[in-house]
Amino acid sequence: MKDVITIDGPSGSGKGTIARRLAKKLGYQYLDTGALYRAVAWKAVQDKIDINNKDALNTILGNIKITFEDDRVLVDGKDISSEIRTGEIGELSSQVSAIPLVRTALFNMQRDMCLKGNVVIEGRDTGTTICPESENKFYLDAAVEERARRRFRELNIKDPGITMEQTIEDMKKRDLRDSSRESSPLTKTNDMVYVDSTGMEIDEVVSFIKNNLNLN
Ligand code: C5P
Repeated sequence: MKDVITIDGPSGSGKGTIARRLAKKLGYQYLDTGALYRAVAWKAVQDKIDINNKDALNTILGNIKITFEDDRVLVDGKDISSEIRTGEIGELSSQVSAIPLVRTALFNMQRDMCLKGNVVIEGRDTGTTICPESENKFYLDAAVEERARRRFRELNIKDPGITMEQTIEDMKKRDLRDSSRESSPLTKTNDMVYVDSTGMEIDEVVSFIKNNLNLN
């Protein structure tokens, strides 16, 4: 499967920005799979449910309607794009994503999009679980300090009280959880092209990936 490009990697590695830009250049769809986990976490906060309460979580998963319109994420028709980009939702989405029933519930939507083709899909398990047949798999990485700097710039706008040290600590904790969980952990496999974006400009990374695609 050549017209599905998967990009996996840890938080702050630039997957979203790179994937969006690459999709635009290729005229492909873009799927931000992290937004799905963030949307579920956001809904749990809205409904004031404890994510360890399986029945309550199942109710959310059975009813939630997550849609994408251009760069916006909608839950049940409400634009939550900005609300899901906070430190609190980032942390809760990582906890939520380690729960197997959540991953199972979100699998079909991601898989359907992958089967349609012409898509750039990014997350933690897109090349391993969502679309293992892809022949264009990338693993995007960067030094933890640089990833934290990028994330800090984002979070600091909404939460001026946050410190760089706290951002690094939170990021390390989240990376460890994402790569050590039992259900579809973040993994770099041998069939993924490894890209270390430390010190690279966004367009350089996009060009590198574009030049390494196997589309014919
Ligand atoms: O990429 P982003 O930071 O938006 O993802 C939020 C969280 O969703 C991640 O910390 C990770 O725990 C989870 N996630 C996942 N599998 C994916 C994408 C995201 O577990 N494919």
